[in-house]
Amino acid sequence: MGEWELAAGNFRQLENVKTRHLLFSGFEVLIQFNPERLKSTAAKTDSDSIQARPCFLCEKNRPPQQRGMPFDDQFTVLVNPYPIFRRHLTIVSRNHVEQRIMNSFGSMLSIAGALPDYVVFYNGPQCGASAPDHLHFQAVSRGYMPLEKDYESQQFTHRILSGPGYGILNWTGYLRGIITLEGREKKTLESLFESVYESLQPGPVSQPGTEPEPEPGTVSQPEPGGQSRNSEAEPMMNILVYRTGGTLTVHIFPRKQHRPRQFYASGRDKITISPASVDLGGLVITPREEDFHKVTENDIADIFRQVCLQEEELYMIINELK
Ligand SMILES: [Zn+2]
Repeated sequence: MGEWELAAGNFRQLENVKTRHLLFSGFEVLIQFNPERLKSTAAKTDSDSIQARPCFLCEKNRPPQQRGMPFDDQFTVLVNPYPIFRRHLTIVSRNHVEQRIMNSFGSMLSIAGALPDYVVFYNGPQCGASAPDHLHFQAVSRGYMPLEKDYESQQFTHRILSGPGYGILNWTGYLRGIITLEGREKKTLESLFESVYESLQPGPVSQPGTEPEPEPGTVSQPEPGGQSRNSEAEPMMNILVYRTGGTLTVHIFPRKQHRPRQFYASGRDKITISPASVDLGGLVITPREEDFHKVTENDIADIFRQVCLQEEELYMIINELK
């Protein structure tokens, strides 16, 4: 921070960030106006755009000021220069390998175990990751996402399965379907996660031109190609993990769509929100000021309904897990 003006400036900017509180029944969703996140929110993640740019997470392309700290022999911990929170890290794989969770979930648990003051999160390749070609997690200060305290309140969760030192919970009345795993043993959580992963459908392989054209002159672009040229697709999801004492808590948000209709709309209907882990944790980022002012409870409910599996849609999966 002392030697990297871009990061220091953007972290200072956070002091002026504006927040609105939208009220739902028994919980709230925060809206944050954060213009620096436009690049990330509207990132083009189709395979042509990805192949055409140097990977900004690879060491050889990173600015020299973005020095890292090693974490085990596979990851490097970096400061994220476009923060949402006063502490915001990007934890990148040392190798340029695709964003996939199945073989890296154990690492995610280890990272969360080593950072008890942070929530560690994973955005799937079609679920908000702006570098779907390079494996990475992010970590942000605990205590800012409304979901953390909503989970603690036990008002929305039901334990559907428990065993020695672990539990699986689902959520109701919370606008988005969530499966929560809780456990003390890394191994147990890994096998529970594997069961959840197996019960979800692999993500759609999007076809060129299936998403509507954006308004001319805007930064948003359709995403032709999508995953079609990537190796095997994984089920679409976002994940939050944090450690409290000896217990790790894992919130999984199964997804059915990358971006809502409003993202591609034009004129007054346009809302530049591209939901990822933090948004689904209850802190929705709006990089455009007009969206920050106009977005309503109904818009948020509608956006969550489009991109997340709903409680009814999770019902089958939860029964299978039982
Ligand atoms: Zn890379």
